[in-house]
Amino acid sequence: MSKGITREILEDWLKNVRPYARDGKVADYIPALAKQNPDDLAVAICDLDGDSVSAGNEVCCFTLQSISKVLSLALALMDHGEEYVFERVGMEPSGDPFHSIYRLETHNPSRPLNPMINAGALAVTNMIHGITPDEKVGRLLSFIHEMTDDRSITYNTEVASSEYESAHLNRSLCYYMKQHGVIKGSVEETLDAYTKQCAIEVNIRQLARIGAIFANEGKDLDSGRRILPMHLARICKTFMVTCGMYDASGEFAIKVGIPAKSGVSGAVVGTVNGYGGIAVYGPALDGKGNSVVGLKLLELLSNRYDLSIF
Ligand code: GLN
Repeated sequence: MSKGITREILEDWLKNVRPYARDGKVADYIPALAKQNPDDLAVAICDLDGDSVSAGNEVCCFTLQSISKVLSLALALMDHGEEYVFERVGMEPSGDPFHSIYRLETHNPSRPLNPMINAGALAVTNMIHGITPDEKVGRLLSFIHEMTDDRSITYNTEVASSEYESAHLNRSLCYYMKQHGVIKGSVEETLDAYTKQCAIEVNIRQLARIGAIFANEGKDLDSGRRILPMHLARICKTFMVTCGMYDASGEFAIKVGIPAKSGVSGAVVGTVNGYGGIAVYGPALDGKGNSVVGLKLLELLSNRYDLSIF
């Protein structure tokens, strides 16, 4: 394993950061997420040969939430190419909370600033090829199956419907974008696909492997087969740097310096070229929706093993 990191070392790091979970709060605006246990922590590192090491609760699955935005973006880019996608969704960080509607109204033309905030991700999901929401989500799942080499990965139906029923803000973002021609077709179907996409469940090693495939410029770790074109993997990683941690992306770039994406389940995936993928799970979130334990652990790991890309 890269840099000689062992399970014992990771267990030790987890022990050090565990107390930070008390500073955060499990997301409850999606009612089903409120059931997560703030003490369930896990970390995994996967190198470019596909070898991984992990610690903490390794069997526990968690939902991808906003981490899915990187994967849906990759799929939409493969479906349509850059020109089409970026005519409809911008490339600039917003500096606002992930669910903010504010810039949609003040920004001209009225299109979401980037694909990592909810407005942009909803527009991206709307673009993915597929006639029905299940067809879109099925294609995203196949992409994830390819990356993880696990065909059993699916979405958590309880989390998906819990979010679908309570997604009033995301609904309003969609209706606003529908009014301005950014979203085509049915808003409810877009929300159905988006909430299922966010509810896709993985374990910590699978998430680290996804990070490692981005670090491997889109190639499978075992066979070397290309899963994602290199330039699209780069685009996704760049968004992870500029917008991946929502309105904490600047501070994260300075303190950690790893392209990363977080989700309100408390998961974070990082990707370091030439090194591999790092996944951290700790459901207690800070005020910006990032895992407090995740941030701390990534900061410690990055500093200790000199993983900053800058
Ligand atoms: N499903 C969540 C939402 O749209 C994802 C947000 C997140 O992980 N930041 O609110």
